[in-house]
Amino acid sequence: MTLRLPFATALSAIVLTLAPAAQAADYPSRPITLIVPFAAGGPTDVVARTLGAELSKELGQPIVVENRTGAGGTLAAAYVANAEPDGYTYLIHHNGMATATALYSNLKFDPLKSYAYVGEVVDVPMTLLGRKNLPPANMAEFIEYARANADKINLANAGPGAVSQLCGSLLQQALGVKFTTIPYQGTGPAMAALLGEQVDVLCDQTTQTIPHIAAGNVKFYGVTTQERISKLPDAPTLEEQGLKGFEVKVWHGIYAPAGTPPAAVSRFNSALKTALKSPAFTGKMADLGAEIVSEDRQTPESLQKWVKSEIDKWTPVLKAEGMNVN
Ligand code: ASP
Repeated sequence: MTLRLPFATALSAIVLTLAPAAQAADYPSRPITLIVPFAAGGPTDVVARTLGAELSKELGQPIVVENRTGAGGTLAAAYVANAEPDGYTYLIHHNGMATATALYSNLKFDPLKSYAYVGEVVDVPMTLLGRKNLPPANMAEFIEYARANADKINLANAGPGAVSQLCGSLLQQALGVKFTTIPYQGTGPAMAALLGEQVDVLCDQTTQTIPHIAAGNVKFYGVTTQERISKLPDAPTLEEQGLKGFEVKVWHGIYAPAGTPPAAVSRFNSALKTALKSPAFTGKMADLGAEIVSEDRQTPESLQKWVKSEIDKWTPVLKAEGMNVN
């Protein structure tokens, strides 16, 4: 007995020391879940599924995209923050990772502590749309119409923490109006409501809106970036149409729960870098107006720094707006 115990202890120490290496070599040995904080069919979902197909080729395992919606993306962020840090659960998120702390006082995650960062993915412009039969034909008319009819206008969004909400709030603030807000579980369903003319206005990423703009299914009033975008060269920015300083650009990053083995994060990151160069991903993103981030931004360090800088940028703006939701 006295002899066996130290042996068992020594053996388990050896097993423990060997375990991480064995894990790194085998990783990934089963399907990986990629959590999307918004509804299927929407713009974040499109990026996730297109990327997931390429990641899966690279990693040799299926990437199962799972939509966990609610509370402007914060439920999904909390889910991943508290998931098993074993390298099999990841989150793709956008600016909401950095705006949530100013909007919610009872978050179940900390954007600066709860994650192992993987890297940034794409930047996506937004577009301001109206339903097809909304009277204003252009932005100048929209501004006039919005000021005269604000109490009749319904603005769809994906809840506080969503970029559609951020964009819509900045728009109302710029115009000095208050619309009625209708939140959805993502802008996939919000777009369906706009197409069905159940809501009047939606601000959404080009990764969803370009095909609808091209088909003439919606009124299109402008892009939310500071510069015009190459995919829609004739579309003026909101800034050049009178909304001085107006800018919302969506960025997407990938996160794992804090404590995920560094070897897994690094393997996932190298698959990400390869996926971001694949013709299937770059082609589809180009068609949808999204821009793959430069290589120096495809890193954990860059994403970590970016989240911090975006928190510093948006917190004072959102607090000044009194946009805290609880
Ligand atoms: N575009 C959405 C947002 O407003 C989210 C989505 O459905 O992708 O945050």
